[in-house]
Amino acid sequence: MHVAVHGSVSAVFDPALLVEYLRERDLEASRFDPERRGEYDGVAAFGPDEAFLDVPWVHCVRAGYDEFPVERYERADVTLTNSTGIHGTTIGETVVGMMLSFARRLHVYRDHQGAGEWAREPYESAFTLAGERLCVVGLGTLGRGIAERAAALGMDVVGVRRSPDLVPGVSEVYRPEDLHGAIADARFVALAVPLNVATAEMFGTREFDAMRGDAYVINVARGGVVEQGALVEALSRGEIAGAGLDVFDPEPLPPESPLWGMENVILTPHVGAMTDRYHADVGELIVENVERAGRGDELVNRVV
Ligand code: NAD
Repeated sequence: MHVAVHGSVSAVFDPALLVEYLRERDLEASRFDPERRGEYDGVAAFGPDEAFLDVPWVHCVRAGYDEFPVERYERADVTLTNSTGIHGTTIGETVVGMMLSFARRLHVYRDHQGAGEWAREPYESAFTLAGERLCVVGLGTLGRGIAERAAALGMDVVGVRRSPDLVPGVSEVYRPEDLHGAIADARFVALAVPLNVATAEMFGTREFDAMRGDAYVINVARGGVVEQGALVEALSRGEIAGAGLDVFDPEPLPPESPLWGMENVILTPHVGAMTDRYHADVGELIVENVERAGRGDELVNRVV
């Protein structure tokens, strides 16, 4: 099996790290060269490339494969796998970090520090996460990673998912049709669904209206899940208390966006899943699938 690593992965890590990791696991691996595409059994990539239509297997190093031409791969008999399953800890910690910052006002004091100001926030602005309700929308890898960590901090965690079964750390599960009921009592709402036709702009004016005035929305899914204009409106009018945002539409967030200047917004440049071992986590998924292919078993995380 020869697996090539496409240059697009440099959006997350140095392609050489994954090449080296796969070689250490006794796989033939090299940097992707379009001239040699006929020699590859698989390619690992962050984003799509026309040349992949001539490679039998494409592994997307992200969980969200919304940029890949799934139907064209299906027609060309190209297998697509993704990296769902490796981001629960990173994203879970990112979301908990944002919630802790909002509750303990750390982001505000960091801003004051930059200005050299010894300034205390009003008495009533600080709170604790313990006892507060978090609603997690989408209880896959990300949602579970968030829910388990929030529950460990004493939060009351509810969730929205298509199946009614409970998951660890979640006290109540709502169906997607009951989204407004699920978010109505929550102090925090965390979005962790894939971007697809059903979830595109699923959070807009009506959802912000349904939220509490002192609630925070946290988006670690995809920018397109939220109607960004409606979010800016809700924040500007004080209809919600704030937002923690890792993802945007478009990315990078344009310099003229009002979100940059909002004190009650914590904004990170799509780095919620970053870790210094990302290449190894992806490498393990690739190795597992190579082993499965060798045994003739179904691949993990197969999209098409
Ligand atoms: P996953 O497939 O493990 O989980 C997604 C869950 O959402 C599934 O359980 C699915 O049933 C559920 N779902 C789908 N539509 C729903 C709906 N309308 N209502 C409620 N639940 C719904 O995927 P994951 O690894 O948890 O990742 C989820 C998404 O998060 C990815 O598709 C990607 O876009 C995004 N993501 C972002 C980052 C980041 O860096 N910020 C990292 C990883 C993933």
